[in-house]
Amino acid sequence: MRVVVTGGAGFVGSHLCEILLGRGDDVVCVDNLSTGRAENIAALCDQRGFTFLRADVSYGFDVPGPVDAVAHLASPASPADYHKLPLQTLAVNSRGTEHALVLARRHQARFVLASTSEVYGDPRVHPQPEEYWGHVNSVGPRSVYDEAKRYAEAVTTAYARHLGVSTGIVRIFNTYGPRLRPRDGRVVSSFIRQALAGEALTIYGDGLQTRSFCFVDDLVRGIVAMLDCREPGPVNLGNPDERTIAELAELVLRITGSPSPVQRLPLPTDDPVRRCPVITRALERLAWKPETDLEEGLRATVSWFRSRGAEPVPAAGRAR
Ligand code: NAD
Ligand code: UDP
Repeated sequence: MRVVVTGGAGFVGSHLCEILLGRGDDVVCVDNLSTGRAENIAALCDQRGFTFLRADVSYGFDVPGPVDAVAHLASPASPADYHKLPLQTLAVNSRGTEHALVLARRHQARFVLASTSEVYGDPRVHPQPEEYWGHVNSVGPRSVYDEAKRYAEAVTTAYARHLGVSTGIVRIFNTYGPRLRPRDGRVVSSFIRQALAGEALTIYGDGLQTRSFCFVDDLVRGIVAMLDCREPGPVNLGNPDERTIAELAELVLRITGSPSPVQRLPLPTDDPVRRCPVITRALERLAWKPETDLEEGLRATVSWFRSRGAEPVPAAGRAR
């Protein structure tokens, strides 16, 4: 296949490009490098079958040559990023999604949308099955992302229903792993960077809010499975191992052996209280389930942060 990956220079996108190339697909990575990094794809640029196209997909783009599939991942994903880029986030998930759909339609290609657990908002149903319609504040600070993704799902569904495009929607839950930007503000990257630098781990609120963390290799297997079939979804992709943020902080401190203290900061407005995927649909329709447990995935992520020269743990710190 020749697969277009929008957002391919980002955290998830770069892993997806790598897996697709590794199995013999050609990959066209389209990215404006707003929250992604050239170094994420530096090793891929030398490989046969890989093309990088620097473009903002919100403004329309073309990909010369054949296209068999489009994986639309372009969008800021960290709350810190989408708060910095609110209008760009709305644009890339609305106009950008439409441009990516137009490309797929023109080539009769498979289209996969990277949606998010954020479409469930601050959920009133727990854990979250795909049938749940969500509880989202359309004028809250997170709406530039949540509502934009909900629109992206709607326009994707309309292209399938009315124009016959083969589309698939995956709802991605919190994912972590190598290539997270250390200062992207997400909880796993922040805690690891802080622990390795001997800085306080910043827990927002009481730390009892939960998330369910999926290792990036597992997630990408699920996206590839969605590309390879005609399943419309939406399908949740996440690891149902639900943890409190305080537990995550403890785990990061134990794995890094860091002596860092914990600092409590105010909980951001509309921060979802609980989040955990029901993944029966992914299992039944994509034969997918996560395989990496949190501790193993965090160890791999910490090693990657260390290999990039993160500040060493002070000598006083020992594994607890
Ligand atoms: P990321 O910020 O690392 O990657 C996003 C990529 O999109 C970046 O390379 C960025 O430069 C690119 N991009 C943004 N706007 C663009 C535009 N207008 N034109 C071209 N490129 C643009 O984020 P990520 O964690 O890799 O997320 C990838 C996708 O997965 C996003 O759509 C995100 O909403 C979704 N998702 C991720 C998570 C997660 O936990 N990582 C959870 C839910 C959903
Ligand atoms: N969080 C935290 N400290 C940080 C960053 C995030 O306590 O330094 C919390 C945040 O309030 C949320 C959870 O960790 O409850 C996950 O945040 P993240 O930004 O990673 O993703 P979200 O699921 O909120 O999009």
